[in-house]
Amino acid sequence: CKKIQSDSLKIMQKTTLDIQTIRKDFPILSRTVNGQPLVYLDNAATSQTPKQVLDVIVDYYSGYNANIHRGVHTLSQEATDKYEQARATIQHHFNAKHTHEIIFTAGTTHGINLVANGFSSLLKKGDEIIVSALEHHSNIVPWQMLCERTGAVLKVIPMNLNGELDIEAYYKLLCSNTKLVFCNHVSNALGTVNPIKEIINAAHNVGAAVLIDGAQAAPHIKADVQALDVDFYVVSAHKMCGPTGAGMLYGKEEWLNKLPPYQGGGEMIAEVTFDKTTYADLPHKFEAGTPNICGGIAFGAALDYMNAIGFSAIADYEHELLVYATTQLLTVDGLKIYGTALEKTSVISFNVGNIHPYDIGSILDKLGIAVRTGHHCAQPIMDFYGIPGTVRASFSFYNTKEEVDTLVAGVKRAVAMLQ
Ligand code: PLP
Repeated sequence: CKKIQSDSLKIMQKTTLDIQTIRKDFPILSRTVNGQPLVYLDNAATSQTPKQVLDVIVDYYSGYNANIHRGVHTLSQEATDKYEQARATIQHHFNAKHTHEIIFTAGTTHGINLVANGFSSLLKKGDEIIVSALEHHSNIVPWQMLCERTGAVLKVIPMNLNGELDIEAYYKLLCSNTKLVFCNHVSNALGTVNPIKEIINAAHNVGAAVLIDGAQAAPHIKADVQALDVDFYVVSAHKMCGPTGAGMLYGKEEWLNKLPPYQGGGEMIAEVTFDKTTYADLPHKFEAGTPNICGGIAFGAALDYMNAIGFSAIADYEHELLVYATTQLLTVDGLKIYGTALEKTSVISFNVGNIHPYDIGSILDKLGIAVRTGHHCAQPIMDFYGIPGTVRASFSFYNTKEEVDTLVAGVKRAVAMLQ
């Protein structure tokens, strides 16, 4: 992520990435929609999958599909090795200290619920939980449910009109009753990059644990969980070139040891008797049942793919796209961008006059352009701005400036039809 400053809008550095070659890795990008070439700008909802990852999925089901950790036969051992290799890939990518601090999940929502459930037995009435105003519903509702179960109280870090958190207000909310703080690394609705290091340090000063929702950051920023000193970090594979239904919860070893298991079943036990069951060591304690084996392996392949391109080159290029798209969209009469934080990733949320975002989105779809419209699972943010929703264009490293031009022309056409 880079700071967007008004004069930097004029500076267009050239990317070092060969975007046209990269695009050939993504079969879906050559399809048409409504007779037009697909312009896929809904990457914050889900990213597209390169053939390098698709091949891994086909190889798994055609070559070594078997259940893991429990078979002596060759296929089971091959599948187990690949699954555990993927865990090690994820560990290295996020720089976790131990492989067993990486818990495979079905995605960000699953990871958050796992932690929220675990804290049911650690919180009591009157304890306080702090959440930010910029959260996705998945990082709000599980904590509200936790508060209902425990009697803990939810406090909210307010935001300003630029879509940035009010950190001074956050400091005032922190106290000896604060037990947990939750915040996203990057807002899905606005693209704001939050100052998570500052948030984590301040929470630790009052003895609170911190969970960072990395769902929107992970495709753009390589988070180092040890440098951040974060207690929990959660991501979804499908936002970063991987499959749906797979993700990761990173937890510090000491926290994962403190939390009770989320679900009971096979794989997560050491010994089962009708008198007493003992649980398996990490990470298996949190991985009950047959996991998404292929999804985990493909998640590892997606990280390999993105790392081969390079996160620094990805961030530079996406910033270039963001600056270009911001400048071009602002040429549309009456267009207003929500979320103008100095630090943001390649997400642009906008409305034009009083036109409903859904109407613009529907016309764009007819032109082959995929954007998201609505509240983006972040209703409190829309309420803050007093709007029903926005049109959200979100860019990935395989998007081009020509696609931005197509978007801007499409928005102009939609506005002309709807006004
Ligand atoms: N958190 C954020 C910031 C998101 O953007 C999303 C998905 O859009 C989620 C959580 C939920 O992710 P998933 O649906 O993959 O569990």
